[in-house]
Parts: sequence; structure tokens; C-alpha cells
Amino acid sequence: MCRKSMGKRILTDGTTLMWQSDCQKYTIRLSNTCFLKILEMAQAHSPNEVGTSLVGCYSDNGFEASVIDLAPLSLDSKGSRTSFYRGIAGLRNFFTKLRQTSSGKRYYVGEWHSHPGAPSFPSQTDDKNQLAIAKDTNTACPECILILIGHTLSNVDEIGVFVYSRKRGRIPLAPAHQSEDIADSRPPAVPMRN
Ligand SMILES: [Zn+2]
Repeated sequence: MCRKSMGKRILTDGTTLMWQSDCQKYTIRLSNTCFLKILEMAQAHSPNEVGTSLVGCYSDNGFEASVIDLAPLSLDSKGSRTSFYRGIAGLRNFFTKLRQTSSGKRYYVGEWHSHPGAPSFPSQTDDKNQLAIAKDTNTACPECILILIGHTLSNVDEIGVFVYSRKRGRIPLAPAHQSEDIADSRPPAVPMRN
């Protein structure tokens, strides 16, 4: 099946969105609902950049992450065509409440932002910001996710998924989407790794 127009098609064909590092150590899953929200926001703010923090959880070993929701767009965020400042207004409250209502099972796992008309690859500023977050002991997110939504002139949404590790620096992840061949909307019960 053609997966070139990733944006729309993947949402409708029961695929689990998943990315993995070359070493297969790092795995990131993204819920379709979350992906749809990201695409809608990116399109709504185009040609300016936009983004929010990511809500999710890690496996016990810290190498598998599920991204399940987006933090609200902070009102003090500022996006232009080539830059994005993710604001901080209300975020501390949001994550404090989230931890309480989820009994600590949902928390901050990283960031996403759009690159309208540009590749889904981190800029030097992106690298700097993400590494700063990974290294910030207050944030307590030593393996911090960055999802970039590029939107090229050929009208295809591109997704770039990266982990910024306090110890290992930037780690690119490649798509490892899993098709659910059986007509079943439940998430696959099969282990992702062998
Ligand atoms: Zn960027």
C-alpha cells in the first residue's frame, strides 16, 4: 500500500504509528488522535510554525515511549515562518494537574513543532533547545522526544522523530509503522521487538 502521503492515509488504515532507532533501542509510538491534532494545528497555523509539549509515558527501562496527547498551546508561544518559541504560560499547572489526575502515569515526554514548507529536520536552534531540556535536571526528561512536521512544496507532510538523550545526544528514529492486517481496532498485542 502506498504510504507516500503519510499524513492522511495512515490515519485511516489502522496503522500504529511507530518509530525506531537504528539500534532498535529507542521506540516511540504516537496515537492517531494525537497525530491528527498535530496535523490540524500545523495546518491551521501555516505558514507560521506552531508546536506544543507532548504528553505520554515511558516504559520502565525508559527506551520506549508512547505519545498520547498534546499539552495546550501556551498563549505566550510565538511562531513565525522560520522560528518557533514555545511559551510557558500555564504549562507548569497543566503538568502538575496531569500527574495528579493520572496518578503519575502521564507526564511530559518532549516537544513537537511544525516546519511549514521546510524539511522535518532539526535546526541548530532545535538541537540546542532540546539538548538543554534533556540536560535540565528539573525537567527530569533525560530522553526527550522531538517530533517535527515538515510540509514540503509537493504537499506531502513529512514527520521527523528524534530523541535527545542526556548521555547520547540526538538520535534519529525511522518509521516502523505496524499495519494491523486483522480488522481490529485494538492496539496490537504483539511485542514490538524480537
Ligand atoms: Zn524547528
